Amino acid sequence: METEMYDVIVVGARCAGAATAQLLARAGRTVLLLDRAQFPSDTLSTHYIHQPGLARLDRWGLLGEVLATGAPLLTRFSFHAPGARLTGPAPALGSITGGCAPRRYALDHLLVQAAIRGGAEFRPRTNVVDLEWENGRVTGVRHATLQGPAILERAHLVIGADGRNSTVARLVRAPYLRQDPRLSRTYYSYWSGMPDQGLRTYGQQGTGTACVPTQDGATLIAVASSRTLPATVDGDRHRAYEQMLRQSSPELDEQLASARQEDRLYCCADQPNFFRQPHGPGWALVGDAAHTKDSINARGITDAFIQSEILVEQLDGPIEHTDQVEGALAKYALHLREEFTQAYEQALLTARLDIDRHRSHMIENQHDPAFIDRWFRSFAGIRGPTSVN
Ligand SMILES: Cc1cc2nc3c(=O)[nH]c(=O)nc-3n(C[C@H](O)[C@H](O)[C@H](O)COP(=O)(O)OP(=O)(O)OC[C@H]3O[C@@H](n4cnc5c(N)ncnc54)[C@H](O)[C@@H]3O)c2cc1C
Repeated sequence: METEMYDVIVVGARCAGAATAQLLARAGRTVLLLDRAQFPSDTLSTHYIHQPGLARLDRWGLLGEVLATGAPLLTRFSFHAPGARLTGPAPALGSITGGCAPRRYALDHLLVQAAIRGGAEFRPRTNVVDLEWENGRVTGVRHATLQGPAILERAHLVIGADGRNSTVARLVRAPYLRQDPRLSRTYYSYWSGMPDQGLRTYGQQGTGTACVPTQDGATLIAVASSRTLPATVDGDRHRAYEQMLRQSSPELDEQLASARQEDRLYCCADQPNFFRQPHGPGWALVGDAAHTKDSINARGITDAFIQSEILVEQLDGPIEHTDQVEGALAKYALHLREEFTQAYEQALLTARLDIDRHRSHMIENQHDPAFIDRWFRSFAGIRGPTSVN
């Protein structure tokens, strides 16, 4: 039986896949968006979005929906280290005056809905298990069914937006262009009864803590710890989380005494660092599938949006002209390395959690507004003549 030929099939429907599908569909492409998960659903990730990410959501007409989740705009930043305290307004990027941390089940769902409104066809609970090839070129995907053989769907281009353990990357054997060792682990949970003091981060030698107000009056409290430290206390991760939290700062310790943990503890020790080759004949990768880095600087969601835009901007010619598409994808790959190498290096450095390295510099400059502004711009990934990144 002859199946419909889509312009593009996007595998994976979270921040990279749904954003890419939305942009492609709005540009008039026929798009099939597939995900093995049911939506709305959560995923193992904290969910802070920097100003450049919110600027994309604003451009796509989705910022109002994101703020309607109840996650506040975080317009005050502070960074605390022993002997140093940097506080100030969040640096603005155009009209975006802060960051925001909507829960992933809300964010990813509204992105999928936007893709559907844009014209993409969406199929949840659809697990891609194989690719279709013709003359060395990917021409479709096969997804599993409970009964009978896998179903074939065909397209001019297959985009893997299926995360760091990407099935598409595995099936096309996308080589790693760069790989670095894993550096940190993340523990997080949600707390009620915490004061709203904007986005707060605390650095200690070997650990870093973030307090991030999110939806429903809850505060996400995440701790990153160096993999050189033990993962548990007496075999117990929860005790390790609590101990690291309480040692983050006396202020936080005091606030936690009257706060309540409202959710279970989430832990992620598997945080690889890599760039994969993000394209080949008939296929491309976007989001974590293309490039993953330690979550310490909370850049993955924002970067997924930026990557989606770069990819779709390049794909502006006829999708059936394979030579043109190959050229566009090569340009996309180049942009990707140029755009993200600096942030990648920065993440590797921060994930060493070696606060002693720059503590004296922070102590010296903690009352200098220009230094504080540069620090927070660098954190947010806002470039400019005064930025340190
Ligand atoms: C502990 C932790 C904390 C983090 N905190 C932050 C943060 O605060 N801010 C931030 O910006 N980033 C953060 N990140 C990074 C962020 O989670 C990722 O960068 C982001 O989720 C990447 O989005 P994606 O769409 O590329 O992939 P994913 O979010 O991984 O989505 C991939 C999708 O593909 C689907 N899929 C996979 N295989 C198949 C298949 N074979 N068939 C069909 N569907 C498939 C999956 O079901 C999934 O829905 C964190 C990451 C971790 C691990």
